[in-house]
Parts: sequence; structure tokens; C-alpha cells
Amino acid sequence: AHLARIEAVDEKVHAFLHVDREGALAQAREVDARRERGEKPGPLAGVPLALKDIFTTEGVPTTVGSKILEGWIPPYDATVTKRLKEAGVVILGKTNMDEFAMGSSTENSAFGPTGNPWDLTRIPGGSGGGSAASLAAYEAPLAIGTDTGGSIRQPAAVTGTVGVKPTYGGVSRYGMVAFSSSLDQGGPCARTVLDAALLHSVIAGHDALDSTSIAQPVPDVVAAARDGQVRGLRVGVVQEFRGEGYQAGVMQRFDESVELLRELGAEIVELSCPSFTKALAAYYLIAPSECSSNLARFDAMRYGLRVGDDGTHSAEEVTALTREAGFGDEVKRRVMLGTYALSSGYYDAYYGSAQKVRTLITRDFEKAFEQVDVVISPTTPTTAFPIGERADDPMAMYLADLCTIPSNLAGNAAMSLPCGLAPEDGLPVGLQIIAPAMADDRLYRVGAAVE
Ligand code: GLN
Repeated sequence: AHLARIEAVDEKVHAFLHVDREGALAQAREVDARRERGEKPGPLAGVPLALKDIFTTEGVPTTVGSKILEGWIPPYDATVTKRLKEAGVVILGKTNMDEFAMGSSTENSAFGPTGNPWDLTRIPGGSGGGSAASLAAYEAPLAIGTDTGGSIRQPAAVTGTVGVKPTYGGVSRYGMVAFSSSLDQGGPCARTVLDAALLHSVIAGHDALDSTSIAQPVPDVVAAARDGQVRGLRVGVVQEFRGEGYQAGVMQRFDESVELLRELGAEIVELSCPSFTKALAAYYLIAPSECSSNLARFDAMRYGLRVGDDGTHSAEEVTALTREAGFGDEVKRRVMLGTYALSSGYYDAYYGSAQKVRTLITRDFEKAFEQVDVVISPTTPTTAFPIGERADDPMAMYLADLCTIPSNLAGNAAMSLPCGLAPEDGLPVGLQIIAPAMADDRLYRVGAAVE
């Protein structure tokens, strides 16, 4: 049924870069075969899922939304892919994304944009716009995204779906193409909080193949989502997450969510986290710096595209020609910014200062979590903007991540879930919930309460 739905609507939505019809049907048959053999078919047996095209899938193309990986077929599964298959999940295909996960609108995909199912002329968020749109268009009930600065939560917010960035280290990065390794985190996307929890519990947990993977038991997110009690819980509202640039209807729905939590018995505490105003600046030094280093591996020798390999060019020229042809504008912008920020003489002034701001943000969160159990905010300052509106204005695009980036820099856990439609445009508004590292269960408790 989901394959038929994709066939019917994806020409318009363009959530998928690759639909793996044969693979999906084979996995569905494998689940049946497990049952026939008397084996457990897996906790999510037969449930279809849309996988962001940043996770390697053995034998199935993985492009990361880039021309530079066109034609590359990974010889192995990412840990997330492997765990999904073991759980009996049926992977329908690979979803569209901003190239190398750099963007907030999916317009930076080398393969064309994705439409927001609420209004196809608007962006579905990014970088994981394909995953979020596949849920909102009912092409899949579950999806996987990655969140370096908001790429799970911001698309969830603008498509009226649920997205969770687990604690950094909570879900393995093995086989997840690297953008900014100290920030990148894979996580679940779904239409309900409980569905997200069920998916979270399947993909999370220690993995020896990822050196930053946390070797502790995964918090019981499913029990928390089933419980949904918030009486006595202390909920922080950070004053830095409002003001100029926030759409009126977004703030209205946010304020209503605060009131709802109060009615449900939570204690609301006003907080200030002064360093959050510098988060965006720090992120746009740290993420490009790590990207410039990570993307050095795309040298035309190892994977995918190779341009100029005709006997007349040196190896260095082939690398340069391939990167020139294979990377899009935003990727090039970040590689240049990052290389500059890391170069000798500038390292302390740029990268070093950004790392100090990162520490201050982490401390602001630590102080906040001495007083409250969770922090809440709008996920994004505005609802979905029209495709093209911010395409030539990187600064305007970067503002979409104002509220999501602090959690990536601090490495804690955060969720976005729908909290109504903005009265002025009828588009979905996202509520963000942030919890301390390894307290991911609190996201699901609060999310289930206000859902
Ligand atoms: N929009 C942010 C960026 O372009 C975040 C991307 C992400 O989370 N992958 O860097």
C-alpha cells in the first residue's frame, strides 16, 4: 500500500531519491519467512520506513543528495540500517536531502527540491525534508533523519510531524556519511510520539563501531511515551527563545502549549540562557570547519564521480575537477569557510573562539537543568517559507536553526512535535522539548502529554 501511495504522489512531493521496490518486497517476505521458521520476526516486523539518503545501504545507492556520490553503491550497511533490518522494518527507499545535510530547505539537493505536502510551493524544511515530507504525505509511517543543527526537528516542525534528535552518542554514526562529526546525530521521525519512541528504541544503543557511542542502557522511551504524566515536572521557558524574527502565530501556539502544560500540573519556570544568542555564530564556524576536514575524502579516487581522468590531467587536477563538478554551491561555501577558520593564524580567533562559546552554551544548559527537568521553545521562528524565498540569502536560511542549534552544540536530547497551525497562514507549528543528555525519556513523557 505504501509503495502504491509513493507511486501515486511522489512525482509531486519528491520525497524519495530512490525507491527500492524489490528490496522492500524482499524484506517483507523475509519477515514472513522468519515467522514460518518459528523465529521472532522483530519488534517492528513489516513496518515500512523511509531512510534518509545519508545512511549506507548495502547494494542500494547512497548519494547524500550530492552528484559527487552519484553511481556509488555502498558495500555495507550503516549500523542504523542493520538494526532496522533486524527489527523487521521494511525500508521503502532513500529520501531527499540538502547536499551533505547542509541546508534548511532541501533546496540544496543536487536532485531537485522536495515539496511540503501542506503546500507544495513551500519548503519541507531541511536537511531532512524528504524524510519529513514522506511522513506528512502518508508515503511512510516511519522515517529516519540526521540532526547536526536541526535537520530532524526543523523539517518535523514545518511538516506537522514528530522528530527527535537523541542525545549525542545515543544512536550510532557508523555508516552515516559525516558532515560535522561532533554534532551529527541520527534519530527517529514519525507522525506520533509513541511511533517515534518505538523506532528510537530499535535504533539506539551502544555500538563498538562508533567511538563516540555511549555505553549505557537506553532510557525507556516507550514507557515514557505510554505514560505521558507531567504532574510536578519542572518545565523551563528560556527568554532568549523569543523576540524579533519570531512569527506571531508561532508564539501564540507556543504560549498555548505552555498553558496546557501548566494545566496538566507542570511547574513553569522562566529562565535566561544568555549565551544562546551566540549559538548560531559558533555553529557556523564549527560545522563548516569539521565539514572541510570530513569532505576531504571526496578526492575522486575512492568513491563515485571522477572527472578529467582522460590521461591528460594529473591526479591533483582530477581531484580538483571532480570537486568542482561534484559539489554544489553551499557545500563549496562551507568547505571554504571551514578551511579558512582552521588555517594557521586564524585557528584561535575563529575555531578556538567558537569552541569557547560552545562551552558557555553547555554551561547555560547545565545551570538550566539544575532548576528544571526539561526546557521548551518553539522549534523554528517561522512556519514553512516559499521555495526560492531564501535560496540566495544564506543568512536568512541559517536563521531557521536559531532554536535547534544550542542542543547540538551541548549534545543533549531534543524533540519537535506539532502544536497546532499558525492562524495567519494555516501551516504547522512545532514545539521543541529539550532534555539533559541521556534523559531522552523525558522528551517522550512531555511530548505524549501535549500531543
Ligand atoms: N541547517 C543546518 C545547516 O545547514 C543544519 C543542518 C543539519 O542539521 N544537518 O548546517
